[in-house]
Amino acid sequence: MGQLLAEKLDGGPLSGIPLFLQNEADVAALGEMEFNAGAPVDPLLYVSINQGVGAGVIVGDRLLTGARGFAGEVGHMILQIDGPLCSCGRRGCAEALIGMRAMLRPGEAEEPGPHSLPDIRGRLIDGDRKTAKAVESAGRYLGVLLQNLATAYDPACIVLGGSVVELGDAFLDPALTTLNEYAGAAGLAPTPVRTSRFGADAVAAGAAALARYRVTRPQLPLAGGGARASATTPAESEGEETSL
Ligand SMILES: [Zn+2]
Repeated sequence: MGQLLAEKLDGGPLSGIPLFLQNEADVAALGEMEFNAGAPVDPLLYVSINQGVGAGVIVGDRLLTGARGFAGEVGHMILQIDGPLCSCGRRGCAEALIGMRAMLRPGEAEEPGPHSLPDIRGRLIDGDRKTAKAVESAGRYLGVLLQNLATAYDPACIVLGGSVVELGDAFLDPALTTLNEYAGAAGLAPTPVRTSRFGADAVAAGAAALARYRVTRPQLPLAGGGARASATTPAESEGEETSL
């Protein structure tokens, strides 16, 4: 992608400008870090919930990309043995239990399920019990995922973003209740959780943050995942992976 973009820009006013590629959850996490006027919040996790589920992980003022660029692909953490089939081919991934598809019931001839996020929202407003149950179940599994992430990273804050978050309390309340119950059962304080301060613009703001991050931070050693952030050579951008 980086190579294609560079070729398209070649010869124009932006010819030769540095280009950086990173997936949407990663850049949204950078947006929360870079455009924060208050005290540093670190570790910070940005969990993005759309059709897919992914996370951007900030640890020690750095975006954690992993050895092969797959760090933060939390949508493919297994939450249920032999659970529903995921887009990745495995069963029981978080994405298959939390992502938008988990709330789209298979259509029944006499009573088709919702077909889109606005449809889910409309059915929630209308008091459709099956839809409310599916959204609550997805929210509970989000709480389980957040609990696992809280255990792994001990984050100062978890930020939630992505289109599914727009479902509001029907989705978020069961998630926070589940997360806080797990914390309470172990005698721990609840992990702070909030929604993205940039809302639907989180990824766009994050893209600006990515440029700032790459330009103002000393370069990481270009090994594995660190290398994929640079789009200046085709070899480096081969490992790029974009979450839906
Ligand atoms: Zn999966």
